Amino acid sequence: MRSRSEILGMMKNRVLVIDGSFGVEVQRRSRTPFRTPEELNRIEPGTVRSIHRDYVSAGADVLLTNTFGGTAHKMSLSGISDPVPYIKEGARLAREAAGDGALVFGDIGPTGILPYPLGEGNFEMFYSEFKAQASVLLGERVDGILLETFSDILELKAAVRAVRDLSEDVFLGVSMTFDQGGRTLTGTDPINYALTFNDLSVDAIGMNCSLGPAEMLPLFSELAAICPKPIFIEPNAGLPQLEDGNMTYPVGPEEFSHYAQEFARFGARMVGGCCGTGPEHIREVSRAVKGMAPVKRDPHPRAVLTSPASVVDLDQFTIIGERINPAGRKKLREAMEKGDLALVMDEARAQVQAGAHVLDVNFGHEASVDWSFMEKVILSICYNLGTPVSLDIQSTEILEAMLRIYPGRPLVNSSTCKEEDLMPRLGMLKKHGGVLVVLSMGKDVPHDVNGRIVNVRKALRKAGSQGIGKDRLIFDPIVLSLGAGYDPQATLDTIGKLKELKLRTCCGLSNLSIGLPNRGMLNASFLAMAVKRGLTSVIMNPLDETLRGILDSSLMLDLRKATPKGGGSEQGIVKCLLDGDAPGALKLIEDTAAAKGPLLVLEEILKPAMERIGILYSERKIYLPQLIQAAQTSKPCFDRLESLMPGSANAKEKFVIATVKGDIHDIGKNIVAAIVRSSGYEVIDLGRDVDTEKIVSAVKEHAPLALGLSAMMTTTAPGISEVVKALKANGLKVPIIAGGASLNSDLVLKLGADRYAKDAVDAVTFLKERSRG
Ligand code: ZN
Repeated sequence: MRSRSEILGMMKNRVLVIDGSFGVEVQRRSRTPFRTPEELNRIEPGTVRSIHRDYVSAGADVLLTNTFGGTAHKMSLSGISDPVPYIKEGARLAREAAGDGALVFGDIGPTGILPYPLGEGNFEMFYSEFKAQASVLLGERVDGILLETFSDILELKAAVRAVRDLSEDVFLGVSMTFDQGGRTLTGTDPINYALTFNDLSVDAIGMNCSLGPAEMLPLFSELAAICPKPIFIEPNAGLPQLEDGNMTYPVGPEEFSHYAQEFARFGARMVGGCCGTGPEHIREVSRAVKGMAPVKRDPHPRAVLTSPASVVDLDQFTIIGERINPAGRKKLREAMEKGDLALVMDEARAQVQAGAHVLDVNFGHEASVDWSFMEKVILSICYNLGTPVSLDIQSTEILEAMLRIYPGRPLVNSSTCKEEDLMPRLGMLKKHGGVLVVLSMGKDVPHDVNGRIVNVRKALRKAGSQGIGKDRLIFDPIVLSLGAGYDPQATLDTIGKLKELKLRTCCGLSNLSIGLPNRGMLNASFLAMAVKRGLTSVIMNPLDETLRGILDSSLMLDLRKATPKGGGSEQGIVKCLLDGDAPGALKLIEDTAAAKGPLLVLEEILKPAMERIGILYSERKIYLPQLIQAAQTSKPCFDRLESLMPGSANAKEKFVIATVKGDIHDIGKNIVAAIVRSSGYEVIDLGRDVDTEKIVSAVKEHAPLALGLSAMMTTTAPGISEVVKALKANGLKVPIIAGGASLNSDLVLKLGADRYAKDAVDAVTFLKERSRG
């Protein structure tokens, strides 16, 4: 087993070659049927060993164990209840083939479950799945762990935590997979990904799968430009095609190796291959990059806060909404204590609509609020509203728990410069990521500027000693009560001094005017002056129009502008659905139905609204979390309209959907089912790994408007043509739409389906075209 620093040292001196794909190779070489590739580690070890050996002799420096799908959850879907012996054997086989030459990295892939509020997953569940798998791999003394093909940052963050809680000494690489639009499934772009994971204790940040090298190059160059950590890449051998009933990848070894050189020129320190690459690809890659000196990059990381689908740039003026705070607000306090998410989300939504870029979340008397409710609030804001959160939490225990499960890079609000406040928070930041607000005070607030700056310098030194730079700190100059005789000029001068020191600043306003008349005016005037002195962010009530107006004008006069907040031009029902405003949507639907009748509202208002949302999604103006939220929000509206209609009028057109035989992946299929359902169709979901006969008999029984087939893997895609043939043999005619990660338009037509579904919205469009209504 080699140490972390040893492997990083190797990467400094040369470009390491990772092996190629496993899935396609085992498919080609295995003699026995298997439920999942990991099963071969025990039932056909010779095949697995021979693949590893071929990669070694092709020149691979790194072998990945055949354990990609080895979480207990994924293995159980293939009917294997105890994954441990398969993972153990997987590690041993790779080690055996590697000998003393190649490194062995334990390969871990995602669980296939989406996190709350998009699905049933949560941090602790992901964490225990990955911890179990990683502990077996580490027990077999692998040289490193590679977390590959992840599409959600929360799940990946849980996996990183799990590995690091087992070992600080093992090399750890992370890799996410992006679509052609440059986002992961839950909306993360390369910049967000790089900056979120740069905070964590990972050694290399990479991209793999889904796209070919040509499609990945622009995304990789974005990563290279911003990511301070070593970067790596494993593209597929192009986008798959169908040839004689088999799936093939078009990019051959030589062409692939030219791209490998190109990636190395962008600074890749490890290059390998994903789906469709084999030993010949790796041989050429090895030839192409082994002589190359590693290219030094000059990355420019940015100071940002993130949630899965959004990045807030702290170099633009940032508005932090303060209203999720129950101080003096009985209703909000009761909602938090009862666990009523709706009211808290209303408060969140209103602030985002009013222009807040980040939401401060304060639970008041924390002992009376359930931790799981706090988690729900944070995740709903992050995923559904797409807004990063400022964790305004007093208890260090709760703060750490929420930092741990935070999907991205949050703001932590706040710490004084006192050792006992600052050190634990810096420790948490180091472990879980994030940006910290530091108050320029120790035990007391110094009256003058110099005293506050002394504190700031002390905090900078302490943070530096923990490896936390000034890009992850924001300083609060401290606003005190004018009525109690404090001099606001000291605060303004501190802002000016902090600006000179090139530090970011943030303050609250309300302390200033406590006990004085005309509070709003005083706060607004102070804010204008603070902007002039260089303030970079403020915690305020964005619904206060005076304050907003003064802030906007001050920024304009100071030739600065607040970070623009996207979207917001939609109105009426579309807006309600996008915002997840269920009561608002229902009221609108009921009011209109009373005037115009339910059928008209269904056909001319609700369905077109979902269609509009589909278009916004296709145009990448919204991302999956908002699409799913809109579908969830529209459900009670559809139900309500249905209940208002007589039986015959509400007979819905049907859609049958299934993942084909042999394929256990169902994230995409579930999303399509949910979106189609929310567009007013009856969905008969047959599940995953469905027998062809079962699909045929469902078509016979339901006579659906269309059939949807999903196949994620190249190995299972031919299952689509099997269904097509079986339907034909039974004399059944039904339009078929097919989708899945390894498919494309060409392929789907060749497999005999009528249309390719790039996403859920395509499926709805297809149904609409065929609608008999
Ligand atoms: Zn792949």
